Amino acid sequence: MKLFIAIDLEGISGVVTEADTAREGAAAERARVHMRADLDAVLEGCAAAGARDVVICDAHDDGRNLDPSDLPGFATLVSGSPTPLSMLQGLGPDRDGALFVGYHAMAGTQAAVLEHTWNYKVYAARVGELEIGEFGVGALLAGESGVPALYLSGDDKAAAEARALVPGIATTVVKTGVRREAAALRVPGETHELLRADVEAALRAQDKPAPLAWNGEPLRLTFTRVQFCDLAETCPGTTRLDGRTLEIAGETFTEVYRGFLACLRLSESAG
Ligand SMILES: [Zn+2]
Repeated sequence: MKLFIAIDLEGISGVVTEADTAREGAAAERARVHMRADLDAVLEGCAAAGARDVVICDAHDDGRNLDPSDLPGFATLVSGSPTPLSMLQGLGPDRDGALFVGYHAMAGTQAAVLEHTWNYKVYAARVGELEIGEFGVGALLAGESGVPALYLSGDDKAAAEARALVPGIATTVVKTGVRREAAALRVPGETHELLRADVEAALRAQDKPAPLAWNGEPLRLTFTRVQFCDLAETCPGTTRLDGRTLEIAGETFTEVYRGFLACLRLSESAG
């Protein structure tokens, strides 16, 4: 069994505030220790279910949060940025399943720990009537390669978002969001046991979710401010809809996704 893991930081055990997810500082260092501990538990579950090839994408910020030391021999760590597929670098048709670890809810979700979609310039992302966040984008990209989204860990809102989009997906809730920077935390030792057991069960399940199919509709991206959209609309394949919104069309979802990343990176050239 060959697996892909995207691991973010906001949905990791013990992570609650912006300071925890910063590049530097004591809180950030502690959060990275929690990130590695959650990953180790997930990898134990993968190994117990017979996985022998796992590509892990360090998907938070600059992708330099995890040290590869002492990872199991079956793991490959994609580290650093930028990469062509950003949070999903390493995902391809050779994988049998995709796991999303330490994920957070989409921008605008109430009582969700550190909710956002990619950066703080995105107000909302939609495909047709479907509003999606980072999990939804990842599940659609995986689906296009025939890879099912099998598992997500994060807070209760991220887990609910995943289950709404991919019925039957296995989830582990490591904390309950109280407010954007407040949560009821489960004890990490307990969450590690849950992560290990839930991952193993998800991979052993007879009834796994089907790969998520894209309906062919453009991705509609609404920014928080007009100037971000002004920068993003220079990306080919986009159509400006209003002050803060543009659409990104493509022949495949991979093409749409690359346009989405280009729009985000362009928007980041403004403060
Ligand atoms: Zn994220």
